[in-house]
Amino acid sequence: MPENKPKKLTSKEPLLEYDIPDNQHNFDRVWALLKEEYPDAKPSLNYRNPLELLVATILSAQSTDVQINRVTENLFKKYRTAEDYASADIRELEVDIYSTGFYKNKAKNLKAATQLLVERYDGEVPDTMDELVTLPGVGRKTANIVLARAFGVIEGIAVDTHVKRVSGRLGFTRHTGPEKIEQDLISLARKEDLDSISMTLIYHGRKVCQARKPRCHVCVVKELCPSSIIFIGE
Ligand code: SF4
Repeated sequence: MPENKPKKLTSKEPLLEYDIPDNQHNFDRVWALLKEEYPDAKPSLNYRNPLELLVATILSAQSTDVQINRVTENLFKKYRTAEDYASADIRELEVDIYSTGFYKNKAKNLKAATQLLVERYDGEVPDTMDELVTLPGVGRKTANIVLARAFGVIEGIAVDTHVKRVSGRLGFTRHTGPEKIEQDLISLARKEDLDSISMTLIYHGRKVCQARKPRCHVCVVKELCPSSIIFIGE
């Protein structure tokens, strides 16, 4: 554990709240402990095909998997093909996904994305990163999830708010943009681990390294984490 508490940053400085020292040399040890702690870290969204996974992942922004599963249980009965979403009345679609939050934006993206699927891909979800990120509402995070879960293609690491926070606190990245964080993690991880890094960090972020009050005293990597001194000392 570092001896000196890192300097607190002003709001104009780029990293997280503190100037967390680089800790990339400890990645393998931290990763081994986290993998052991969360051996079954898997996404819990329900879906039966690539289209349902794409829809569920677009809806999951700023929501929980439990909430999305509640909504998609009925949604997937009503909308079965890309054409069903593409031709849906936008107000009706908004009502159908209302409880996922940000429903207006999500409905707009769902319609636009599925219209593109119908126009360009015969209603099917494409299986490459380059094609997926052309769909409205689909960034690298969503594309990585769809590629890995629907097609078994491991292209990169999905970076959400938990992955961003946890990897920053652990000193694995000094970046705040998802694409650069993804590149930092890819450079540290073994290829065979790329698929599980995102969900493992998400589990750790949800259960222990929580945004407001990280539970450092029960954290399995506290001895290797440069941020533990900040939070335990507070
Ligand atoms: S020691 Fe604290 S800050 Fe570091 S990973 Fe664990 S919970 Fe997060």
